[in-house]
Amino acid sequence: MEQLYRKLDAVYDEMVEIRRYLHQYPELSFKEEKTAAYIAEYHTKLGHEVRTNVGGNGVLAYLKGEKPGPTVALRADFDALPIQEQTDVPFKSANDGVMHACGHDGHTATLLGLAKVLNGMKSDIEGTIVFLHQHAEELPPGGAVSMIEDGCLDDVDVIFGTHLQAQMPLGEIGYRTGALQAAPDRFDIKIQGEGGHGAYPQDTKDSIVIGGQLISNLQQIVSRRIDPLDLAVVSVCNFEAKNPYNVIADTAELTGTVRTFKEETRSFIEKEIERIVQGTCQMSGAGYEYTYMRGYPTLVNHKEETEFVAEIAKGVPGIESVNETPQIMGGEDFSYYLQHVKGTFFFTGAKNPEWEKTYPHHHPKFDIDERALLHAAKVLGKASLQYMKEHANSSFNVVG
Ligand code: MN
Repeated sequence: MEQLYRKLDAVYDEMVEIRRYLHQYPELSFKEEKTAAYIAEYHTKLGHEVRTNVGGNGVLAYLKGEKPGPTVALRADFDALPIQEQTDVPFKSANDGVMHACGHDGHTATLLGLAKVLNGMKSDIEGTIVFLHQHAEELPPGGAVSMIEDGCLDDVDVIFGTHLQAQMPLGEIGYRTGALQAAPDRFDIKIQGEGGHGAYPQDTKDSIVIGGQLISNLQQIVSRRIDPLDLAVVSVCNFEAKNPYNVIADTAELTGTVRTFKEETRSFIEKEIERIVQGTCQMSGAGYEYTYMRGYPTLVNHKEETEFVAEIAKGVPGIESVNETPQIMGGEDFSYYLQHVKGTFFFTGAKNPEWEKTYPHHHPKFDIDERALLHAAKVLGKASLQYMKEHANSSFNVVG
């Protein structure tokens, strides 16, 4: 392992360079052609077998060790967000309205740096490593499903992935067995009232007034209809009814998100929203349209692999604390991989201790402490080598 750490230290500057390059040229989900080409070229130069256009813009690279053993997949996502960057960094986004505001640039740089190092350690690798570069994590249906359908998990025995966390102190690793991240869903409501002159409300069915009531009524779901010990969020995030100042709105549209951990809570809320929409609109004689779209499933980490990563992370240079992390309401399509193979998704602290203020993920001023890349690479690298060592003699993939 000492060799792994030393070699990673030596590529740290390059990892930072890659991260800054990707940061400067971010691409939106499902449109990441240039980023995908950059990743593919990097692996090709290392001599890895590369598959491009996997389920879309996904890229797979394979590193075969000199000894037989299990196949370990390491996943990094590489899409950016439709956000106008407001930081002052010299490598600020050059693509108007697009920003790496979730750290996926860091994930990719971490995996590329690690790929370079592991490539130079083939004699220590007992099995195969799959570098799974996933496109489109930010936008449902996401890239994971189509990559799985296109075979990215074929022969894979275990998968590891991490997310840099700007709110978690540098030097910390957060793990959790079982449900870690919520299922993120979306709902759309259209209220069909009756528009008219602002001076004669008696001749209208005011969609804005109905919408206002609806927003209040929806608050009852989590506060009055869900067990306080269960976890759920219902947020209305957009309310649109554009009109001149003297016109009563004919229609209003509301969009929002639901976050849950349990299937029964998820389907209960789906029905409950409609019940409230129906009742609220009926009260005013208005009509409605309602659609509920399921996003990613709840991310559920496997016990043995999670405990394994928590254990091996403890001895990694730079890692000062390894803690069980609380569940979060944000979604992740890494959840799909975990429905097919064993594995775990963990958090790597990326909060610079000297920064007075850190901005949340998806904020126009979001930034990370780049030293977290090295931490992530060391934990993922150690997890891979250690896992292979412990499972080298098991009969992986011998049959079929
Ligand atoms: Mn993310």
